[in-house]
Amino acid sequence: MLERLLADVSKDVAVLLDGALSGRELSKEDALSLLHVEGPDFHALLRAADVARKDDCGDDVSFVITRNINFTNVCYVGCSFCGFARHRDEAEAFDRSFEEINANARNAISRGATEVCIQGGIDPRKDHHHYHGILTHLKAEFPELHIHAFSPEEMDYISRQSGMPLEEQMRWLIDAGLDTMPGTAAEILDDSVRRVLSPNKLMTGRWKEIVRAAHAEGLRSTATIMYGHIEEPAHVATHLGVLRELQQQTGGFTEFVPLGFIHEKNVLGQWAHSRPGPSGADDLRLIAVARLFLRPWITNIQMSWVKMGPKLSQIALEAGANDFGGTLMEESISRESGSDHGENLPPEEMRRLIREMGRTPVQRTTLYRTVERYDDPEKDPPSLEPERDQEISGPARWRDGTGQARLERNSGDAPERNTNATGC
Ligand code: SF4
Repeated sequence: MLERLLADVSKDVAVLLDGALSGRELSKEDALSLLHVEGPDFHALLRAADVARKDDCGDDVSFVITRNINFTNVCYVGCSFCGFARHRDEAEAFDRSFEEINANARNAISRGATEVCIQGGIDPRKDHHHYHGILTHLKAEFPELHIHAFSPEEMDYISRQSGMPLEEQMRWLIDAGLDTMPGTAAEILDDSVRRVLSPNKLMTGRWKEIVRAAHAEGLRSTATIMYGHIEEPAHVATHLGVLRELQQQTGGFTEFVPLGFIHEKNVLGQWAHSRPGPSGADDLRLIAVARLFLRPWITNIQMSWVKMGPKLSQIALEAGANDFGGTLMEESISRESGSDHGENLPPEEMRRLIREMGRTPVQRTTLYRTVERYDDPEKDPPSLEPERDQEISGPARWRDGTGQARLERNSGDAPERNTNATGC
């Protein structure tokens, strides 16, 4: 029977997977072939990526306790996939002061965060000193907190405001407290696609120039892709090739993060004939291809639970991913585009989801140093999340009329079983 399973895998795909597992670097053409696999070839791809993941990273699954802080949603760049940006006169426009940003960071630290991730819209009323001020105010109060901030698009804006050469600008921001840079604003690193998605945004050459300058100054970054809209598999293969080549030159990427397009509430998704985001199979296929194509240069492959949801993210752990990403605590960018997978995945939930897949959760720093390994669930720390009232629905006799549970747990007066079903 096993022979039959293996016989169903096409010969070309078997050769590519065997080569990748033996340490042969896949070409962009190989990646393109693998981005098309279906059926038994698809399952073989996921299995091969899982074996590669185990060889590259072992069975631990890492996560980072972090808080996203979007300091403003005022932005006039006009990306077609964005549901987050607002004009400054709109009622929903916001602009957080330095003190508000610090208050959010304070809250994050009280919940165990080692990192804050700071990004915002491009508001022409702000100049480079504003970005510098965010860093200095944060570091003055929280010298130990890791600041992961300012996408290449923001770096491009800062450089146009400051007039500094890129390397000098990176040094200036590092000296103010910047620790790492998000590798966002990458979308698809192919200008034919970028011109449709965001004609006013930096193009591929400038994205690479900024990332190279950051890495040259010791400012490491993530690497991302946004897929599942108008791009073709060939664009994805090109994008992966750009990232691998950059990594071979600089070694500055900490991880690769595939970000599926959320289509519900933006122009690209509703009017521009894009696909409605990736399918679940697309998500897993890309993670698996990335694992095989990027090794040994980038070995941390993160899935996005915000885009994929926690359950598909669990399956991604068997398709090449080794990192569950960040707890986030607040997430506006995907939510405003229509994502319904929540904004906060507390550490206790991360641990549960990872353990349900038979793997060991490990809290890490931004730079993948171990903070704590959680081998024994009995020794897990108590939750640091703020207490929330638990809403209970269902038969009225179990509620007190305000939506709150009427009974103490284990009071002996509880229902014998909770079928979690309707019509029972
Ligand atoms: S994606 Fe970023 S740069 Fe583009 S419109 Fe939205 S906030 Fe502005």
